[in-house]
Amino acid sequence: MSSDSPIITASAHSVPSYLNADNLGPWGIYLQQVDRVTPYLGSLARWVETLKRPKRALVVDVPIEMDDGTIAHFEGYRVQHNTSRGPGKGGVRFHQDVTLSEVMALSAWMSIKNAAVNVPYGGAKGGIRVDPRKLSRAELERVTRRYTSEINIIIGPNKDIPAPDVNTNEQVMAWMMDTYSMNEGSTSTGVVTGKPISLGGSLGRREATGRGVFVVGAEAARNLGLEIKGARIVVQGFGNVGSVAAKLFHEAGAKVIAVQDHKTALFDPAGLDVPALIEHVSHNGTIEGFRAETISAEQFWQTESEILIPAALEGQITAANAPHIKTRMVIEGANGPTTPEADDILRERNILVAPDVIANAGGVTVSYFEWVQDFSSFFWTEEEINQRLVRIMQEAFRSIWQVAQENKVTLRTAAFIIACTRILQAREMRGLYP
Ligand code: NAD
Repeated sequence: MSSDSPIITASAHSVPSYLNADNLGPWGIYLQQVDRVTPYLGSLARWVETLKRPKRALVVDVPIEMDDGTIAHFEGYRVQHNTSRGPGKGGVRFHQDVTLSEVMALSAWMSIKNAAVNVPYGGAKGGIRVDPRKLSRAELERVTRRYTSEINIIIGPNKDIPAPDVNTNEQVMAWMMDTYSMNEGSTSTGVVTGKPISLGGSLGRREATGRGVFVVGAEAARNLGLEIKGARIVVQGFGNVGSVAAKLFHEAGAKVIAVQDHKTALFDPAGLDVPALIEHVSHNGTIEGFRAETISAEQFWQTESEILIPAALEGQITAANAPHIKTRMVIEGANGPTTPEADDILRERNILVAPDVIANAGGVTVSYFEWVQDFSSFFWTEEEINQRLVRIMQEAFRSIWQVAQENKVTLRTAAFIIACTRILQAREMRGLYP
């Protein structure tokens, strides 16, 4: 590398509009959700401030040499929101719009999610402010390895266990695992989950989040007396979560009638051919070009359905589109897709919302199985994994449903009541150190 290489910096810190939905921003939305639950926490409310402050937030500089010899700096984050119930756990996101505030909110939602499904973890999340599509494979590997080295001081199989999120995959996890292991001097498979099967990954992990969305959707439908067979499903986002959920609903006899991704939206009242659409996306990277009628974003949100599954990004259901949504229930595959204002509108309109912290918890549940399998070096069959996943998701959903009925609150508030109670009970029992 020549000493006169120009310095490239990551793009300026602007908060994208979808993160600022209804002007709260993701951390603001989370704080409002905690405020809503506080009156239900009884004497534990004394500890609620714990939930409003991340335990630890690390901001790191990630400098790498680009293929053309220039030097680029990217900003990276790892936030451990709460570790009262166990080590931090949560994904790593590579996106040009990632901010510290977003990672803080995502880490807090992981604390809530892990407690809601009762896996023995706290909550954490990480990210790098980078557009990975603009990097070569070698540059992506260098970014991943340098970021892992920078956060090495706070991660570990008993401290904080990263996993994939938006734009990160099992290859990225393999590089993270290798970098951590090289720094530690011994192979440590349990430091990340979502790894390739050949490196201690778990069967069923890739499909787990979508499968959990389906299990929660089926439970919610049963409680509303709705048949899955013949039900009309609308899905936003056709990536890992959306496509698997769509496939499972399709296999159960439901009709997936509308799908939207970052390029376009498709509609077929007779039901889209989901396996063919998945095949199309695997070749083209988008649903665009598939044989079906295209509709506008406005038409997409107004499509009449029994089940609507947002499985793309935060802040998609807002005060602007919530009054026009025509569905019986929203099953949140994405993290934070509904703003608090939209939540209120949907409640008033008697539309059931199964919140992200339970609906998309299938991924972290199978991550937990992966971590347990890595520790014991004994691996389960896919059938065992799926059975255990279904049991945990059904039990979690049924307790949340019961608390919602008892307190006459939404499922989101009920999930927060259960999760915050578990976290703050652990906090109280442990006491403050020193
Ligand atoms: P992915 O990258 O595989 O897919 C994202 C999908 O959203 C793609 O189809 C993309 O085209 C679409 N999309 C992007 N921008 C859009 C826009 N503006 N409008 C409409 N569609 C758009 O990501 P994923 O892993 O499926 O994750 C989706 C959501 O689910 C994220 O919120 C993520 O945090 C959450 N989630 C994922 C997992 C997991 O295990 N993958 C677990 C829990 C939660």
